[in-house]
Amino acid sequence: MKRLIWYVVVTILMLPGYQGITEACLGARPLSMGGAFVAVADDIHSCYWNPAGMGNLQGTELTYMQTLNNKALLNYQNWTAGGIKIGSGGIGVSQIKAINPYFDIYDAATGTYQYTYYTNDDWMTLSIGGWGTGVFENTAMGVNIRRYSQSLEKRDDFKLWENGKDTREGMGYEAEVNGYDIGVLHKLSDKVNLGLLIQDVNEPRYDFNKDIYVCDRGHAFEVSPGAECPVCLKKYDRSVKIEPYHLHRRHARNFRPGIAWMPDENTTIAVDIYYFNVKDVYDNEMQSEVRIGIEKWLTEKFSVRAGCYGKSMHTIGFGLKSKPEEGSTAPNMLYQIDYGLLESDGGGTHLLSATVKF
Ligand SMILES: [Zn+2]
Repeated sequence: MKRLIWYVVVTILMLPGYQGITEACLGARPLSMGGAFVAVADDIHSCYWNPAGMGNLQGTELTYMQTLNNKALLNYQNWTAGGIKIGSGGIGVSQIKAINPYFDIYDAATGTYQYTYYTNDDWMTLSIGGWGTGVFENTAMGVNIRRYSQSLEKRDDFKLWENGKDTREGMGYEAEVNGYDIGVLHKLSDKVNLGLLIQDVNEPRYDFNKDIYVCDRGHAFEVSPGAECPVCLKKYDRSVKIEPYHLHRRHARNFRPGIAWMPDENTTIAVDIYYFNVKDVYDNEMQSEVRIGIEKWLTEKFSVRAGCYGKSMHTIGFGLKSKPEEGSTAPNMLYQIDYGLLESDGGGTHLLSATVKF
């Protein structure tokens, strides 16, 4: 088994043609494990990573994650999640706050890309999942029901900050839609889990009640610049037709298979594939990405983690958790602090999570 897993890991690493993306993920612990968590899903992070893992909660778990820097560059700002174990299952609610860059808008008057459109996203998710019985004793299933709410915002790129505040401003366009995820977790043995997360099974699409103008090459304009694209004319010395474009986004179905191996009770090694051969969320082709991570508890209270978040980015982090005193009569509450660093091109994004379990 050991040899087979190493073989799979090495083979995947040698596959050509996948690339990194510049988005972080949810939870300092999953991030610092390279974003390979679909088959791990053993705590409240299951709310996002695999709802089948909701049956692995230890009683009630609450977590809050904050992105510490690069918030203007990064999509996820913060994440709050809470869940309760019920029998062999669990139920949870979570909220994601995200800012997603949408369009660079070319301003014909100044001859530059002066504005950027963003979507300001507030996503609420209900997660339900748990372990089966009988022949399905080693298999868990779960669903996420997500309400995507977003509002369109605009930012003047020549005036990013004003009085220490981001100059993004609401444009009065909002959109809502429901998305559904399905998760499966299977214990192959005491030491090996298989996981599968299918995000946005229904491929939700949301529309803003606004049209802009876009050329074939993606140059975008707020006001019609005429029949021909002025950027293409200037840049490529050729004309390309301009068409009206209705602002919308669609979340593509995302297959995320994973495997987790626990060679001993203090060590987890996980591999996930992100976007298993599916098209990009934002209408661009996106190639599959392999994520690999390791977590090792060096003592009962301290763990180190590291991973490869796609081909070009690395992650590192640690976890600290409390341990109840032997024979203590105090409420049995556990605290955990996790830190994760996403490193790319010498830069870094820091994530911090605080979790309580009781
Ligand atoms: Zn153009």
